[in-house]
Amino acid sequence: MSAEPVVAIVVAAGSGVRLGGPLPKALRLIAGRAVVVHATHNLLAGGVDFVVVVVPSSHRPEFDAALSSAFPIRLWRTVSGGTERQVSVRLGLEAIDRDPVLAAGRVVLIHDAARPLVPPEVVTRVINEVRAGAVAVVPVVAVADTIRRLGDPTGHSTVLDRSTLRAVQTPQGFDRATITAAHAEAAADGVTLTDDAMACEHVGGQVSLVLGARESHKITEPADLAWAEALLAGRAGG
Ligand code: C5P
Repeated sequence: MSAEPVVAIVVAAGSGVRLGGPLPKALRLIAGRAVVVHATHNLLAGGVDFVVVVVPSSHRPEFDAALSSAFPIRLWRTVSGGTERQVSVRLGLEAIDRDPVLAAGRVVLIHDAARPLVPPEVVTRVINEVRAGAVAVVPVVAVADTIRRLGDPTGHSTVLDRSTLRAVQTPQGFDRATITAAHAEAAADGVTLTDDAMACEHVGGQVSLVLGARESHKITEPADLAWAEALLAGRAGG
């Protein structure tokens, strides 16, 4: 590991209710490997030095087994998560803070395990943008569907201008001290976050956008697992 490690937090403590089945979503298999193993592999391939995986405490032994079968222990560790994603991220950031080796790094990435097939080049793009001085970096893609906004007082919906919309993905990249303070402040203020860049904006930080990728699609429903299987089968088939 370099003197200034790039650390990624992989949040994997969700139950995956919409996906169904007895296992947490991040332990489900795609092409014979757990979702969390794919995500960790792609982060390491993109330039991350160490991965903190935030897991449901009920399944920590299974996560440790899946990760240790794929990577040497010097590259990862697990910590127990919380009841909401925002809490799981905060627990990951606190784990980095407590470890003097990991806390030597300025760049931290926060990634959803549920996006296992993120291309390594997206990871590298995010790291480079933080290294170049950005405080918060978000990979985005154009929106393919026309989007309607509900909630017009007359009961009607309105079409938004699709050309001005972007879908937000992970990994998001941050200056570590800024995101750690921002998450603590958001929690103290009772602000609900749907992503981590929102925490930075809550404390006045600017968000930079970089190009994401369709392959970073979030696994939510059974059809998404089938899509990921098909994508990897297509690659294996050359
Ligand atoms: O539920 P959703 O798909 O939005 O979750 C996004 C990511 O956050 C998933 O990788 C999930 O495992 C993680 N998460 C978490 N702790 C929670 C809830 C979700 O780490 N309590």
